[in-house]
Amino acid sequence: MELELDREYILGYGVDLGSKNEALDYISKKIISKEGAQIVTINPEMIEMGEKDERLGKILKNADLIIPDGVGIKLALRFRGIKQEQIAGIDFARSLINICADNDYSVAFVGAQEEVVNRAVENIKKETPNLNVVYKHNGYYDDEDVIIDAILAAEPKVVLVAMGVPRQEFFIDKLKSKKNDIILIGVGGSFDVWSGFTKRAPVVWQKLGLEWLYRTIKQPERFKRIFPTLPLFLFRVIIETIQLEKDY
Ligand code: UDP
Repeated sequence: MELELDREYILGYGVDLGSKNEALDYISKKIISKEGAQIVTINPEMIEMGEKDERLGKILKNADLIIPDGVGIKLALRFRGIKQEQIAGIDFARSLINICADNDYSVAFVGAQEEVVNRAVENIKKETPNLNVVYKHNGYYDDEDVIIDAILAAEPKVVLVAMGVPRQEFFIDKLKSKKNDIILIGVGGSFDVWSGFTKRAPVVWQKLGLEWLYRTIKQPERFKRIFPTLPLFLFRVIIETIQLEKDY
């Protein structure tokens, strides 16, 4: 099945355009047709990491669905004349969980501290009691293969991996190489939020696309992760866009 969403390229990295619902529809179809899909929620930090790490870069570029997360991607697309809604990975993942609950698609949760993943699953089960969680494990383990084998034995249709980039992407890639009919998504710090241990930015900040700023104020050590990444990324996108216009 071909992707119905248009894909734009930013610094060589694909970004799929369209609404959150269109992206969810695409994944629903993939579940029904048992094709599996690897979902990436891309942001400028990930692109920078992908440029430094060839293996990660390849994984990001080969994903089946690449969701425009982060205000940087939204702005980059804007330079290209594309108005794209920013789709927060955590919101997308939560909606995907709802689809799973409604259709009895089994789910596995892997990542974060033991208490965090347990509490996150507990809270989600309170909101969506029908959700069939067939496996859960923390993201701190000795033997990755043991976890992968356990997931395969549990046969989930969807696996959410919350171990941060690039760890979660490498884990997903390995799992995908063993069984390619699962929906796989890296969800970063989402379990921390769902567990209630970490608070998201207030909705106003989210709507303004300033969740990253809020997180940076709360955790100043994040500053070096986004700076100079974000301005440098935007600068490079502007140069690339001018170049593309020249070639056209
Ligand atoms: N994490 C994990 N195993 C590790 C390292 C990190 O499970 O070896 C978890 C960590 O506990 C946190 C999540 O990965 O729940 C992602 O953290 P971070 O906030 O760095 O992710 P981001 O959303 O910024 O990508």
